[in-house]
Amino acid sequence: MTEQPQPAPGNRGFYRMRRPIDVSGISGTGFPAEIAVFSDGHAAIHWPGKYPTTTPHPGGLAWTEGIHCHHGTTLEPLPDPRLARIAEAHSKSTSGGGLTSGLCNECELPHPCPTYVWATTDRDPLATWDPADDEAAS
Ligand SMILES: [Zn+2]
Repeated sequence: MTEQPQPAPGNRGFYRMRRPIDVSGISGTGFPAEIAVFSDGHAAIHWPGKYPTTTPHPGGLAWTEGIHCHHGTTLEPLPDPRLARIAEAHSKSTSGGGLTSGLCNECELPHPCPTYVWATTDRDPLATWDPADDEAAS
């Protein structure tokens, strides 16, 4: 019997697949799939393309990555429209003529202000699950 990776509940949320090379020639490159991770760590991957299909991944994000992340394919958090709006509000101040004060429009701290950095920082979807941690604990 094969050992199955355990789901990691901390990864709940929505992710997308970034695929630079399409080996099968079916699902395409770019962002061919979206992944939902539920509160118990189980996941489902949805391929919205030519043959829309949703597949459960009881092993969660770790399974999804193990099965699909080859040839440079990665998973990343689906961009959050709320964060994009926050980042836009905290953009660098510009006045007419293209002059800039170098300060944030919203909080007037030097740009990029802490809020802008927070709203635009990519988070590793597997940051809370590291196989090395499991090995160290046993
Ligand atoms: Zn700001």
